[in-house]
This record gives sequence, C-alpha cells and structure tokens, in this order.
Amino acid sequence: MIEEQYDILLELQKIDIDIDKEEKKKRNLPLIIEGVTKEIQRLKNSLKNKNEDYKNLQIRLKRIELNLTEKSNKIKKHQEDLYGGKISDIKELKQIQKVIANYQKEKDSIEEDVLDLMEEVEDLDKSISHLDRDLKVKEEEFKKRKEEMDLAKLAIEKNIDSLNIKRGEILIKITDDRLLKEYKLLRKEKGGKAIMEVDGSVCPGCYLDLPSDVIYQLKKNRKIVICPNCNRILIWKD
Ligand SMILES: [Zn+2]
Repeated sequence: MIEEQYDILLELQKIDIDIDKEEKKKRNLPLIIEGVTKEIQRLKNSLKNKNEDYKNLQIRLKRIELNLTEKSNKIKKHQEDLYGGKISDIKELKQIQKVIANYQKEKDSIEEDVLDLMEEVEDLDKSISHLDRDLKVKEEEFKKRKEEMDLAKLAIEKNIDSLNIKRGEILIKITDDRLLKEYKLLRKEKGGKAIMEVDGSVCPGCYLDLPSDVIYQLKKNRKIVICPNCNRILIWKD
C-alpha cells in the first residue's frame, strides 16, 4: 500500500517537474522581445538627440541670418553716405570705404559659417531619416516578435492547464497527507526532485555513495529510505 503511494508520488513529481519547465519557459518569454525593445529605445533616444540638434541648428542659423541682414543694412547705409554726394572730404570718404570693407569681410566670414551650418543641417537631415527608417524596421520586427511571444505564451498556458488536470487526477490517489506534505517541503527545499529512484550504490539526488545498509534496506521489499546525506526520499528501481 505504502509502496504504491510512492509510485504515485513519482508520477506526481514527473508532472510537477514538467510544470516547472513550462513555468520557466513562460518566465523566459520576454527574452524574445528584450533585444529588439532595447534597440528601439536606443533608436528613439538617438532620434530625440538628433532632433534636438536640428532644432538648435535652426535657431543658430536664424540668428546668423539676422546678423547677416544687420551687416548688409550697415553696408547699404554707408554706401549711401559714400555715393550720396553729401560728403566731400577725401579722408572721410576713405574712412567710410574702410568701414564698408570691414563689414564686407565680416559678412563674407558669416556667409562661410552659414554654408558650414547648412551642410551640418543636411547631414543631420540624412541621419534623422536613416534613424526613422531603422526605427520603423525595428518596430515592425517588434510587432512580429510580440505576436510570436503571445502565441508561445498561449501554447505554454495550454500545456500547463492540461498538466494541472493530470496533476489533479494523481493527487486524488494520494491518501497519505503526511507524505504529500513531506514531498512538497522537500521539493521546495531541493528545487526540483524530492523522491529519487535508485538503481545502484549512488544517490541520484546528491551523487554520494549510499551506505551498504541503506542499499540493503532499499532492495529488500522495495523499502523506502531517506538519503542520509540530502534527505531525499529514495525508492529502489525495479
Ligand atoms: Zn542524496
């Protein structure tokens, strides 16, 4: 009678181990989307930074353009003085020419800056559209992976459900509550196997040699013993 209970317990353990495996698979499911989620976050951050850079560049460009207009206006005003005929003093006229030349030089240098900035804007534009495209590709991949993950999750849950039904059927057959409690405690403590089938001189739970009297007791009428090392329930395999 008691031996039969241990056989049922072995069956229960098989189911419990299968359930553990399925639960572990379920826990690991987010790994399917982890990589692509990180990649999307990285792309979004890059895009945010590049857009920020783009905005700042536009502000700088506007400021420089204002500066250019100011220089042009100054040149225009001095040219009016120069050619307006109101000033006849040669020295003063030469002074005005010098001032105009200086403004022109400044204007030229600013225009060079504008060209450089325009080039930067163009480069940024390109990398923003590349990032946009990469992001779309990754988001598409995420969608696929997520569907894959959801399907896998459904399959696992279905497996767990049917394993639990089998488990329930086995549980009904266990009449020894004390044994079941011991089994549950041991399984929690050992993180897997609480009851082990022995067919040699070694405990398959802790891999240590069993004392000869333990093996003798095990073999004799399939008597159940506890491993003196790891405390697992041992049963002789027929
Ligand atoms: Zn052991």
